Amino acid sequence: MTIIAHNLETVRARMAAACRAAGRDVHQVTLLAVSKTFGPEAVEEAWTAGQTAFGENYIQEAVQKITQLRHLPLQWHCIGPIQSNKTRLVAEHFDWVHTVDRLKVAQRLSEQRPPGLPALQVCIQVNVDGGPTKSGVLPQEALALAQQVAVLPGLRLRGVMSMPDLATDSIATYALFMRAKTIFDDLNAKGLALDTLSMGMSADLEEAIRAGSTLVRVGSGIFGGRPKSA
Ligand SMILES: *Cc1c(COP(=O)(O)O)cnc(C)c1O
Repeated sequence: MTIIAHNLETVRARMAAACRAAGRDVHQVTLLAVSKTFGPEAVEEAWTAGQTAFGENYIQEAVQKITQLRHLPLQWHCIGPIQSNKTRLVAEHFDWVHTVDRLKVAQRLSEQRPPGLPALQVCIQVNVDGGPTKSGVLPQEALALAQQVAVLPGLRLRGVMSMPDLATDSIATYALFMRAKTIFDDLNAKGLALDTLSMGMSADLEEAIRAGSTLVRVGSGIFGGRPKSA
């Protein structure tokens, strides 16, 4: 068994244990393997071990990998910040985008999604901790943005994504994830029919699952350490 296959087993076991502890069905939580900075061989290795959904941050790097791996039936999620001049690449190459945090980007993705492709699946990124480095719409602006995105052609609004800064302890981390869960529930109460709450990474997937995450984004826990800047 390869290291990646072994790591995937470990992560899946952590997810299953977290679901059990939270009284949730393990099928309610999807694993997104974050392959940023790792080459196509690593992705292929994970695919051989049963992983089909992959997350990428850097658009150019991702497009190269997606193109190289065209022969595999993989699902690609954009989880990095999106500059306006990169929306076309995202619209043309990805299946999902988690990081829509302003209308202009959503409009461009909508206009640039090729008509032959299925709708681009979209999450609104919400900044729940007000961290200084953060992208994401503020909680009080999430509803307005979601309502505008929900009606754009070529896109399908699926949910909310959040990436709070690592908090000091497990309880504080859980509390931040609960803010995102509250926003998710509020949007659904307003009729948006969302099914995806994208939150939790290698270090905090247990807290995220306890707070209701339906998709965890795990990189280093599967592929190993990355250079510090990535
Ligand atoms: C890098 C990254 C991850 C994965 O982080 P790990 O700590 O390696 O699991 C998840 N989500 C986003 C948005 C990222 O940029």
